[in-house]
Amino acid sequence: MTQLTFNNTFSKLGDDFFSHLKPMGLPEPVLVSINPKAVYLLGLKTSELTQDWFLEWASGNQTLTGSDPLAMVYSGHQFGGYSPQLGDGRGLLLGEVVGPEGKWDIHLKGAGSTPYSRFGDGRAVLRSSIREYLCSEAIHGLGIASTRALSLTMGKEPVYRESVESAAMLIRLARSHVRFGSFEYFHHTQRPDLVKKLADYVIEQYLPDIQGDSEQYLSLFRHSVHSTAKLIAQWQAVGFAHGVMNTDNMSIIGETMDYGPFGFLDAYNPDFICNHSDTGGRYSFKRQPMIGLWNCNALANALTSLIPVEALKQILEEYELLFLKTLLELHCQKLGLYEQHSDNQSLIDSLLESLAENQVDYSIFFRNLCYFDDKAFDENSSENDTSYTNLRDLFLNREAFDSWAKKYRDRLGKENTKTADRKASMLKTNPKYIFRNYMAEIAIRKAEDEQDYSEIDRLLTLLQSPFDEHPDCEEYAKHPPAWSQKLSVSCSS
Ligand code: AMP
Ligand code: MG
Repeated sequence: MTQLTFNNTFSKLGDDFFSHLKPMGLPEPVLVSINPKAVYLLGLKTSELTQDWFLEWASGNQTLTGSDPLAMVYSGHQFGGYSPQLGDGRGLLLGEVVGPEGKWDIHLKGAGSTPYSRFGDGRAVLRSSIREYLCSEAIHGLGIASTRALSLTMGKEPVYRESVESAAMLIRLARSHVRFGSFEYFHHTQRPDLVKKLADYVIEQYLPDIQGDSEQYLSLFRHSVHSTAKLIAQWQAVGFAHGVMNTDNMSIIGETMDYGPFGFLDAYNPDFICNHSDTGGRYSFKRQPMIGLWNCNALANALTSLIPVEALKQILEEYELLFLKTLLELHCQKLGLYEQHSDNQSLIDSLLESLAENQVDYSIFFRNLCYFDDKAFDENSSENDTSYTNLRDLFLNREAFDSWAKKYRDRLGKENTKTADRKASMLKTNPKYIFRNYMAEIAIRKAEDEQDYSEIDRLLTLLQSPFDEHPDCEEYAKHPPAWSQKLSVSCSS
């Protein structure tokens, strides 16, 4: 039997915070994929995973000794409006396990209906589960805080969406499943005692250094605001759009969570809306930073019983500066600029403007930029310099790139970093591989149509090390194929 030892701190908070219930298992379960990196995080051995218990557990058919499954209650602002009653409608927190790198919440997504399912069936479909499984690992691979994915199973149960789809279950690991919406729920149901109890819990579990300080709740809020600002700066720098930044999808400790209709930028387009259901563009790429602050404001409101309003306001004011500072640093790193210069921001702004005007692929541009030759420039020889033409040819208006490249070369001349060192650092900052929607689609089609899950494993390995060369996956480093333009993803999952 398994070595997993559960230590369920959340379930000790009491029945106001959740409902106990067992998962509804999937019939005739099949193991679609296991993530070896997450296996390690739980301190499991790979040999254990071939045993029957793992598939039975991961498909909701068996509850392990010591596990105390529960559906967490929360509420949240969805597309700007307050939804007073949300909660785990199709997932269960199975418990917490301490592994070699600390404690993890284990959450089974797609585990059947719960008291919070509203009109939903409590199930997750294979399509959206594959997307979450791979994207959470891709985001982690890019060095951005994220929930992780342990396993993906499916079973013979029809799930009715726009068409009939296969039911799947994902085991997700998170440092915490407490959301902004968890606090909002207790605040808006007039339970300040439970707001305090939840804040005490989060501090005890995740911020022990501030526990007992006279301003511990303020520090907790500051931590949430700061980690959100930094997280969203990282999303912007890597070109990731979350798609559904409702406050119930915002982690109190600033991890990317609840992957739905996300999308990575292809051509740089600040107005990019990845979620087909987001008709008003509330969560468009360029609005994410502002929405992050809006969400922190909703959290502040939920904490007014613990923290004076003036203090909350002051911390909210720190968000914008921290976001802008972090994004500037990240953009500078992408450009290989390590010294502060007054013209850094304008160099970045003019580049982004030009990328948008010329519909240049965001990730391909920055990856190619790693090879930019900063040595003395001869206008006449640039056409023979492939590292230069590989960049220039991305632009509709090539002269636009020439004029920016000249400024960039001048700016690089003021750096003390050696060219080879800059290139090496830039290659670790600008990914060769991002998780474009069409890649997910290829893996989904193979899985759904041919019961072939090999592409999922292939993409998993690729996306977990997106800065490395993967000679057998060169296709995925290129521009997306034309058919990918027709793909659309919505909230349906
Ligand atoms: P999401 O947009 O996935 O973050 O979901 C928003 C809320 O709806 C959460 O409380 C989910 O648990 C719930 N939900 C989403 N899909 C389903 C479903 N198929 N069955 C039950 N609840 C669901
Ligand atoms: Mg959610």
